[in-house]
Amino acid sequence: MDTSYADLMDAAGDQHIFRSLIARFLCEKLPLRLAQTPRVGLVMPLPMQLEWQSILYNHGLAAPGWPRKFGGRDWALSQMHMWYDECAKARAPRHVLQSLSMIGPIIMQFGSVEQHARHLPGILSGQVMWCQGYSEPGSGSDLISLRTQAVRSGDHYIVNGQKIWTTFAHESDWIFALVRTDSSVAPSRGISFLLIDLRSPGLVVKPIISIDGLHHLNEVFFTDVVVPAENLIGAENEGWRYAKALLNHERLSICDPTELKARAAMLKRFCALPEGRLHLDASLADLQRKLAVLDIGLIALDASYQRVRSDMEAGRDPGQAAAALKFMDTELSQSLHEIDVEITGLMACGDQTAAFRPSDDFESIGPAALSLAFAGYAFSRAYSIAGGTSEVQKNIIWRGLAS
Ligand SMILES: Cc1cc2nc3c(=O)[nH]c(=O)nc-3n(C[C@H](O)[C@H](O)[C@H](O)COP(=O)(O)OP(=O)(O)OC[C@H]3O[C@@H](n4cnc5c(N)ncnc54)[C@H](O)[C@@H]3O)c2cc1C
Repeated sequence: MDTSYADLMDAAGDQHIFRSLIARFLCEKLPLRLAQTPRVGLVMPLPMQLEWQSILYNHGLAAPGWPRKFGGRDWALSQMHMWYDECAKARAPRHVLQSLSMIGPIIMQFGSVEQHARHLPGILSGQVMWCQGYSEPGSGSDLISLRTQAVRSGDHYIVNGQKIWTTFAHESDWIFALVRTDSSVAPSRGISFLLIDLRSPGLVVKPIISIDGLHHLNEVFFTDVVVPAENLIGAENEGWRYAKALLNHERLSICDPTELKARAAMLKRFCALPEGRLHLDASLADLQRKLAVLDIGLIALDASYQRVRSDMEAGRDPGQAAAALKFMDTELSQSLHEIDVEITGLMACGDQTAAFRPSDDFESIGPAALSLAFAGYAFSRAYSIAGGTSEVQKNIIWRGLAS
């Protein structure tokens, strides 16, 4: 492991030096091939995200925001924000949310010493990939009604039921799942949080192809799946508490505005280029106006993000501000994808989803960076559902205002 850059960043006494070291690191270590890979909006093929994760790991930068004793570098959220900002500008693959921002912090906070030793190294190196088993048919917004059952039998649980919309389950090694362990008490009191090996007998993953024509989502079926009791996080029937803690980490990561800002800047640069003007199928003045409105929204998003971030950093519950942030992020992401498609014009009509598969030797119709504009637009419709629907966020905002 070569931690020389990471050590310099740790020692930087000043924000400008810190940022410039990150930029230098990215310039030197980020393979151009990864930076240039077309994405569906902000989504990269998982193998490329994991390739980048292993490069970061080899430089001691796999999860700089984690505590040092777990392999991180103790960076504050404000430092992480600068890190993500520079990574987005350099077009580095996004970090793997499910592993690093969701289950990692929960294992650190609520897991046993054995669970730390067993699971955290694989998450850091990117060698073990995780997916989130929360939603079920009939239990999404009303997650507390979930029905997948785990019955204790000696030193095991026997799990039966179904999860749905499980992102990356087909490419993952483990699933963290909410299961019902007591049906006789109030719904929130009978939920437990289990770590389940996806290769367990009785566990079947089936694909769901989304509107962008790609495979990100899955159904996961459990039939008499035997899970060692040592894979329980924390205490039995306390899972709802851990589940909610994870959702705070999830929402803050989803709403980090750095990627959106970088994508908007790329569109502005593209419109200004002679090549861009050649492709434009919409009025330039109209696009410039829309990009300016988007920019103003992104400034507001950034300010809201900083507020929620500093609340969380100080251990305060961000409450309705987190819901407002999620709602705003969704609206801006969707309008960015609409602008993408307007800029791409007729070229957006062609099916260019093969550009998403790194193994295919794909030549794009029109500019490569916009080859997945339509797929991104189509998938962005799901942003108002994933991670908590916009209607539910509005309810939370309203409850906060009314109280
Ligand atoms: C792209 C994508 C990726 C996802 N990835 C994962 C994943 O990896 N793991 C996972 O566990 N889940 C995942 N999900 C599932 C996601 O969390 C749920 O889809 C979401 O919570 C909504 O639940 P639902 O689909 O059951 O819709 P429902 O809750 O049934 O909602 C249906 C409609 O009713 C509205 N509604 C519901 N309740 C209320 C209310 N109280 N007031 C007003 N309106 C309401 C909703 O806003 C929505 O419009 C993903 C979803 C998507 C779209």
